[in-house]
Amino acid sequence: MSDYFHLAELVPPAIYTRFGEQRAWNFVNRRAYKNLIKLRKYLGKPLIINNYHCGGEREWSGFRTPESPYFSATSQHAIANAYDIICVGLTPQEMQAVIQEKYQRFNIGGLEIAPSWTHIDWRFNPDQELTVFHLT
Ligand SMILES: [Zn+2]
Repeated sequence: MSDYFHLAELVPPAIYTRFGEQRAWNFVNRRAYKNLIKLRKYLGKPLIINNYHCGGEREWSGFRTPESPYFSATSQHAIANAYDIICVGLTPQEMQAVIQEKYQRFNIGGLEIAPSWTHIDWRFNPDQELTVFHLT
């Protein structure tokens, strides 16, 4: 589907295992995904979302089900509309600065300022502003 992301990076292990390489795409938001690819091409650097499929510990950085310890029904992650990203080659602060400057180019609606990753989401802001919030 993409040279940039393995499907497992976008959904948690239980979803990937249960639905498999074809149907687990049902848990990926098309608009968020297309803009994620655009952002990845623009940055020209690897982006890490989930990494459990290659031995890492990150399982809940994309779509979240109620089984997640981080689950919130009102989170954009719960509707497959958010990714928590580590950009290889940029600090989270540098990455967040890029998003604040270029969010319209990628239709990004939300940015969370977190110390060691960057949360971006595609919430609908009718005024096309970027909602910036801090990790609480
Ligand atoms: Zn997040």
